[in-house]
Amino acid sequence: MELLEKAIQERGTIIGDTIVKVDSFLNHELDTSLLYEIGKEFQQQFRHKRVTKIVTIEAGGIAPALMAGLAFNVPVVYAKKQKSLTMKGDVYCESVYSFTKQVYSDVTISKDRLSSEDHVLIVDDFLANGEAAAGLISILKQAGAEVAGIGIVIEKSFQNGRKRLEELGMEVVSLARIARIGEARIEFLKS
Ligand code: 5GP
Repeated sequence: MELLEKAIQERGTIIGDTIVKVDSFLNHELDTSLLYEIGKEFQQQFRHKRVTKIVTIEAGGIAPALMAGLAFNVPVVYAKKQKSLTMKGDVYCESVYSFTKQVYSDVTISKDRLSSEDHVLIVDDFLANGEAAAGLISILKQAGAEVAGIGIVIEKSFQNGRKRLEELGMEVVSLARIARIGEARIEFLKS
C-alpha cells in the first residue's frame, strides 16, 4: 500500500536493527485518514472471505482493527494483556511473548465475546515473529471459531512471523512488507 509505505519512510524511525517506531501515525498519535484507508484496504483484500468479527490485541492493534471493523461493518474484539491471571474460568487465555517488551503476558478474551459461529479476521499493527498472532489463533481455536485470515499493517519480512503463520495454514496479508532495515533506511519488498 503506497500511502502506508510513504508514511513509514517519511514519518517512521528505526531503533536498533529490528524495531520500527511509528508513533507519529499508528502507535501513539493516530492518523485517522490513513487508518481509514488501511481499514478499507483490509476489507478489499479479504472480501472473498466470510468475516463476522475482527480480533486484535491491545494496544497497537486496536486502531487498525477498528477501521477494518468499520469497513466490514462487523464488531471488533481486542484481547487484553495481563501479567498473570488469578481467575481463568471465564476467559480464553494464551501466554504470549512480547517482541518489543521482552516479557511474557497472559492474553485473554472473555468467553462471552467469541462463539463457534464466528469467522474471524485477525488484525495487528506489526508482524515480527508471529507470537501475538499465534496466541490469538490459539484463543480462537479454544472458542471453536474459524480464522478467516490475518491482516497486518506492517510486516517485517526479515523476521519469521509470516513463515510461522503460513505453516499454520493461515492466509496472511500485510499492507507494507519491510525487506530490510539498514543504515537508517527502510527497504520494502516489491509486491
Ligand atoms: P510478534 O508477536 O509478531 O513477534 O510481534 C508483533 C507484536 O509486537 C505487535 O503486536 C507489535 O505490538 C509488536 N512489535 C513487533 N515489532 C515491532 C516494531 O518494529 N515496532 C513496533 N512499534 N511494534 C512492534
